[in-house]
Amino acid sequence: MMSFLVFISQYLFRILPFALLIIAGSPCAAQKPTFRIIDKPIIFDEERKKLSLEYLAQRHGIQQTDPTIKPKMIVLHWTAIPTLEATFDAFNPSVLPGRPDLQAASHLNTAVPFLVDRDGTIFRLLPDTTFARHCIGLNYCAIGIENIGNNDLTKAQIKANVQLVRYLKRLYNIEYLIGHYEYKDFIGTPLWKETDPNYLTGKTDPGKSFMRSVRKRVKDLNLKGSPLQAE
Ligand SMILES: [Zn+2]
Repeated sequence: MMSFLVFISQYLFRILPFALLIIAGSPCAAQKPTFRIIDKPIIFDEERKKLSLEYLAQRHGIQQTDPTIKPKMIVLHWTAIPTLEATFDAFNPSVLPGRPDLQAASHLNTAVPFLVDRDGTIFRLLPDTTFARHCIGLNYCAIGIENIGNNDLTKAQIKANVQLVRYLKRLYNIEYLIGHYEYKDFIGTPLWKETDPNYLTGKTDPGKSFMRSVRKRVKDLNLKGSPLQAE
C-alpha cells in the first residue's frame, strides 16, 4: 500500500509541471491582465496639507478645512521626465524644490493622484480626491493623470488612461476630460478659479494625438472637452 502511494505521488509530481503548463497556455489564462492600481504614496504631511489649503484659499478663492476636491474633470498630462523613479522624486517633497515661475504663486509642490508608467502600470500617489497642484485655475475640481514620457507616449499608456478614466467616471461625477494644453480654454467660464489673471504657463502636454486616441475609446461616456472645441 505504501509503495503504491509513493508511486502515485511520484507520478503526480512528474506530471505536475505539464499540467501547469497546460493551464497557463489555456485561453482562460491568456485573458487580458486585470485592471489594477498600485499604491505608491508620496508624502502628504502637515506642511503639504497647510500649503494645499493655502493654495485653495489664495489661488482658487476657496476656503476649506480639508484638502480634498469634488472632482468634475480629469486632466491628462505627460511628465517630460523619462523615468518613474525621477518623476516620483519630483512629486514626493511637499515643498516645490525649484521652478521660480511657480514658486511666486505658491510653495506647494506639484503632484497628481495617478501616474502611468511607459508599460501602462498605474500608480496611485495620493487618494483620488486629495487636492493636488497640477493645473492652474482648475486644481480644485480636477483629478490629474500623469504619463511618464514626452511626445512619445505608448499604446499601453493610452489603454491605461482609458481604464482609469472609466474607473473614475464610475466613482465620481466627472463631466470633463481634457488635455493639459486645453486648460486655458476654461478662462472666463464658471469653472475657472484663479485669482491672478497673469498666472498662466504654456502647456502642450499630453499632445493632441494622445487626447484623440483616449477620447475615441471613451466616446460612450459623453465627457465634455474644451469649451472652445466645436463637438
Ligand atoms: Zn501637464
